[in-house]
Amino acid sequence: MGIKQRILFLTHVGEMGGAEAKMISLAKSVEITKHVCLFQHGSLEQKIRGEKLEVSVLEMPKAVSSFKREDGILSALKLIPLMMGYIRRLAKLSKKYDVIVCMSQKSFVLSSFAKPLTRRPIIWFMNDLLSPDDFNKHLIKFLTLLSKFTANYVVLNSASSKEAWLRVGGKKKNVEIIYSGIDLQKFENLDKADESISAIKARYVDDKTPLIGMFGRITPWKGQHVFIEAMAQLDNAHGLIVGEAQFGEEEYKKELEQLIEKYGLQDRVTFAGHIEEIPQFMAACDLITHCSTSAEPFGRVIVEAKLARTPVIATKAGGAQEIIRHGETGYLYPAGDADKLAELMQVCLRKHNQPDDVMVKAAYKRAKENYTSAIMVERFQEILKGL
Ligand code: UDP
Repeated sequence: MGIKQRILFLTHVGEMGGAEAKMISLAKSVEITKHVCLFQHGSLEQKIRGEKLEVSVLEMPKAVSSFKREDGILSALKLIPLMMGYIRRLAKLSKKYDVIVCMSQKSFVLSSFAKPLTRRPIIWFMNDLLSPDDFNKHLIKFLTLLSKFTANYVVLNSASSKEAWLRVGGKKKNVEIIYSGIDLQKFENLDKADESISAIKARYVDDKTPLIGMFGRITPWKGQHVFIEAMAQLDNAHGLIVGEAQFGEEEYKKELEQLIEKYGLQDRVTFAGHIEEIPQFMAACDLITHCSTSAEPFGRVIVEAKLARTPVIATKAGGAQEIIRHGETGYLYPAGDADKLAELMQVCLRKHNQPDDVMVKAAYKRAKENYTSAIMVERFQEILKGL
């Protein structure tokens, strides 16, 4: 049964990321009115339009859009007067809908302030693992307290994120885990032996050299530097870094280029930039590694690698540990440990390089059973029914 409520999806983000991919799948599942409102312009607008969804932009004042998660609660409170007009505009839009779905922290905070004017239920998809190591502790207090008053449901993206949420004092009632679901259709008909897939691989390597991919936006905590350090320890493989620097992370990309030069890897590591054909690129790789140095709240790229039937190695922290059973459906290594990663890369290239590999098959099966967008939508519908 389709979703009949009129739903407004909100995010402050203007570029595509894991949470935005999830939002698009959820919005597509709504049968009648659904509208996505972004709080800043960016390439995401076009992407959403391409999915035949209605999209608008309610641009935030600059001081608010430049507020960072590490900034304190005092800085946040100072923004309130600036926000009054904005909140009124958001409330006017929100009132046209039955349910407000917030996909980011900023959109949740602003919708919470608008709630006395709208009185609409709020579902907050909390896509971060709220750890005091990565977030300002006053901000954590503020968010957890606010959600007790304004969030009808808080949806977390893994058991690890839920544990972290409860550990910092988040509310216990109406808190659900919904894994970020992947569109299975995009992966189901992939054939690694297909010419189009070999053609992608041939752009980077000859047929004797394995291609090792790392997928995700370029930012320090995603750990592209760990990937490069591990690649420096292998002498017959090519590294492919897929993804682009966003949100002002260009400096880190320059550091990565210097690291590549330091290890003399100019011919053995390539930046592919942001790409749309993720399933095909993943299928073209012989191995995919995930290198986040902080606990990943979920890690869609790990599931996508499994669905592309490519062996995957991920860091032993956060949601990645739920997606991979070490030795059964992939490998896990301590976050930041480039030596261990290099060692596991060798193991994978040696042991799991056949199309009918047992581990790869088990990984595909588990991903298909647990992490599809169909499962995610079903769980979302259950929440909507309960409102
Ligand atoms: N992605 C993409 N093109 C790229 C790099 C990444 O479409 O060049 C997608 C990737 O396939 C995944 C999402 O971006 O679906 C990233 O989600 P993930 O949960 O791994 O990380 P997040 O960005 O949410 O921290």
